[in-house]
Amino acid sequence: MSDASVLRMESVRKTFGESVVLRDVDLKVAPHTVTALIGASGSGKSTLLRCANLLEEIDDGAIWLDSEEITDPRADQDSVRRRIGVVFQAYNLFPHMTVLDNITLAPRRVHGVSRAEAEERARGLLERLGLAGKADAYPDRLSGGQQQRVAIVRALAVRPRLLLLDEITAALDPELVGEVLEVVRGLKDEGMTMVLATHEMGFARDVADQVCFLDGGVVLEHGTAEQVFGDPQQERTRRFLRRIV
Ligand code: ADP
Ligand code: MG
Repeated sequence: MSDASVLRMESVRKTFGESVVLRDVDLKVAPHTVTALIGASGSGKSTLLRCANLLEEIDDGAIWLDSEEITDPRADQDSVRRRIGVVFQAYNLFPHMTVLDNITLAPRRVHGVSRAEAEERARGLLERLGLAGKADAYPDRLSGGQQQRVAIVRALAVRPRLLLLDEITAALDPELVGEVLEVVRGLKDEGMTMVLATHEMGFARDVADQVCFLDGGVVLEHGTAEQVFGDPQQERTRRFLRRIV
């Protein structure tokens, strides 16, 4: 079965030992859209993203990337991961490598791109994200916001089909959050398909085409940002939004 979704989850179940962390999760991500996962800490947002990237094995259900069932045991997991870019909360840049080397490592080593081409692409991306002068800097010379933007460039450098962003502003000082969110907004304008877990409700409301509210591993409510934020149907969603906004 396939449809036009970039990512599709059907009846996904994920357990850790006795605890059910994702229960019957259905999700469809259309091309060139942004999906925001919201919900309390521990509701399963990170686990959902990790399952989508095959960092976690699901217990039941199925996941498709474009028309390929990536949870099929015969799927080539490395090939799947090469098509999905991931950025986590803590910008995991390699401290002993320059910005340019951090970005070109995967394209060169994993994707077989020549150094010249990888560097040209990296410099283009750095320029687009306002980091043109930072190519030769080491990560510890950059602000948190700059490091996180480099992490986004690194994820983009392999030209992913889908970008997963897990609370990428959560570790930043408040004054640095805006510059990172601006980058995400720019990527949306360029048509990148993204799924992001976030506590930035204003941003989610503004940028997301689809919002999923997770509660105890269940997608309790989903819809457009307008629907979920403006007219939540579930009492638990209303309570969560009242608490956080
Ligand atoms: P969120 O990102 O929404 O805060 P998580 O996906 O990180 O939620 O966690 C969902 C639940 O799964 C939590 O109860 C958490 O303790 C549990 N969990 C996550 N990862 C593991 C793991 N590797 N082993 C056991 N439990 C885990
Ligand atoms: Mg999380």
